Amino acid sequence: MIYNASDFQKDVDCLVTQIKESKIAFTGIYGIPKGGVPLAIALSNKLDIPLVNCLNGLQPLVLVVDDLIDTGRTLYEYVNGGFHTAVLHRKPHSPIYDKNFCAELISNEWVDYFWEDNSGNANAQEIPTRLLEYIGEDPTREGLVETPKRFIKAWDKLTEGYSQKVEDIIKVFDGNGYNQIVLLKDIELYSMCEHHLLPFWGKAHVAYIPGKKVLGISKLARLIELYSRRLQIQERLGDQVVKALMDHVQPKGAACIIEAAHLCMRMRGVQKQNSVMVTSSLDGVFMKDIKAREELMRLIR
Ligand code: ZN
Repeated sequence: MIYNASDFQKDVDCLVTQIKESKIAFTGIYGIPKGGVPLAIALSNKLDIPLVNCLNGLQPLVLVVDDLIDTGRTLYEYVNGGFHTAVLHRKPHSPIYDKNFCAELISNEWVDYFWEDNSGNANAQEIPTRLLEYIGEDPTREGLVETPKRFIKAWDKLTEGYSQKVEDIIKVFDGNGYNQIVLLKDIELYSMCEHHLLPFWGKAHVAYIPGKKVLGISKLARLIELYSRRLQIQERLGDQVVKALMDHVQPKGAACIIEAAHLCMRMRGVQKQNSVMVTSSLDGVFMKDIKAREELMRLIR
C-alpha cells in the first residue's frame, strides 16, 4: 500500500477532530522517531500545540505520536507510562489501547509511507527492524540503531552467490592427457539453510577426473563459494557443484563430499550438539566405478 500526501492530509484532519472532541488540554506533542515525526509536526501545526524533543520525566499531557501500531511493542512503553497516543494506522492484529487516537484501520499489507526512503537498502532495513520489534526488542536503543543496516550488509554478503555465474568463474585449459583424480580437500564452507535461514558450515571436498580439459584448482573453491552463498540445502549444494563441473569441464567424473554442522539442528529442534551431516554427490565414473570411488574416499581420509 502506497500512502501518499493526500491520504495523510485526510488522516491528519480525522485525528485533529478526534483530539479536539476529547477536550484534553495537551501541553505538547512528541513524535516517536522516525515514523512518528511527520504526524507530530502536522498535528502540532493544526492544533497549535508545541512539539517536544523528548519525554523527560512525568509529562502525562504530552501526546505521543507514531505512524503505525503494528505489534504494538514500540508504543507499549508509552501506553504503560500513562500517555495518550495517536497513530495514523493500526492493523487487524494490533492491540487496542485506551487513550489512543487512530485515524484508520488498515489491512495487513506493507505500508510505504511517502516520507520514507523506500528505495533499495532502506526499504530492506525495515525487515530486520520489524524482526527486532517482533522479538520484543526496541530497535531505537543505542546498541541496535545501526543493526538493520549491518544486517542487510551481512545478508548481501551471505547471498552474493545469486549475482555470480559459473561461466564467469570457470576457465578451462588443455589437460595434456592427465586422467587421474584431481582433488581439492577441506574447502571451508559457510552457507545458510533455506528452511530456517540459519547457518550451516563445514568442509567440502571437490574432485574430478579430467576428460580433455582441466581447470585451475582454486576454481573448485570458487564454485563452492558461488553455490554456498545462497540459500541452500546441503544435498543440493553438492549436486550443483558437480553439475557445474560436468557441464562446463566435461570430466570423466565429478564428486563433491560435504561434511557440515547445521545450527538449525544444534541450537533448536533436536539439539544434537555434535552431529555432522555428510552428503556425497557423485557423477560419471565416481558413480559407475566402485574403484574410482574407493580411491577418492581414500584420498579424502
Ligand atoms: Zn535448517
